[in-house]
Amino acid sequence: MKNVYCTLFGHDYKISKNVTYHVKEYKCKHCSSQLTTNSNGKLTPLTPKFKEINSVLERIHRKRLERSQRIFMTNL
Ligand SMILES: [Zn+2]
Repeated sequence: MKNVYCTLFGHDYKISKNVTYHVKEYKCKHCSSQLTTNSNGKLTPLTPKFKEINSVLERIHRKRLERSQRIFMTNL
């Protein structure tokens, strides 16, 4: 169902999740419409396929962060 506000004024997207430094998920404040950054750095609707890709990206990103933190700690 379409939100009347969005139909009149357009969606008001806010970041809902930081997947990686470059990939983020956005959610409209007024309806549940969601966007994400695709591999070209452009915004695209957050389809189940992109959700799946993002969850994989997020896992890899977290692992990388953990590893770099561990290296940082051992270097202290
Ligand atoms: Zn909206």
